[in-house]
Amino acid sequence: MNSTASAKVAVFPGSFDPVTAGHVSIVERALPLFHRVVVAVGVNSSKRYMFPLEQRLEWLRSTFRDEPKVEVIAFEGLTADLCLRLSAHYIVRGLRNSTDHGFERSIALMNHALRGVETIFLPALPEHAHISSTIVRELMANNADVSAFVPAAVRP
Ligand code: ADP
Repeated sequence: MNSTASAKVAVFPGSFDPVTAGHVSIVERALPLFHRVVVAVGVNSSKRYMFPLEQRLEWLRSTFRDEPKVEVIAFEGLTADLCLRLSAHYIVRGLRNSTDHGFERSIALMNHALRGVETIFLPALPEHAHISSTIVRELMANNADVSAFVPAAVRP
């Protein structure tokens, strides 16, 4: 590993309500690009979540427990400020479709303007492009089988 000063650190921010196979794929594909990937669970007081923060963190930590380059944390406030605190120069985001792209582009440009942080976009793999936490929550609320869409830690 490089010295701390030159270590490439990326933040992968999200709600992870809950973590899905799509999120896991993005982290796994980001790992070869960085020395460390910080999965950062956003805490936004104006947002309603289905699962409590501790549950979302536990699922993520369990999913990545054998991956020493992944750290899972909770954070409040701007992702750009978190990057500054962590000396992370990169944000990783997944893109599923053009709606994601339109939204993410403005945020990426804003984070660049605020803190000079570069956002690295990874396209969702075709087998994950239809998976979203929103749909998984809907399935879970209706007792449907979500095992194909979430990592083992989230399965009942
Ligand atoms: P947010 O509330 O910030 O959108 P999410 O937990 O929904 O948080 O998503 C976090 C990141 O993961 C986003 O960049 C999102 O585009 C990406 N993502 C979500 N689902 C998938 C998927 N199925 N494949 C690839 N990336 C995904």
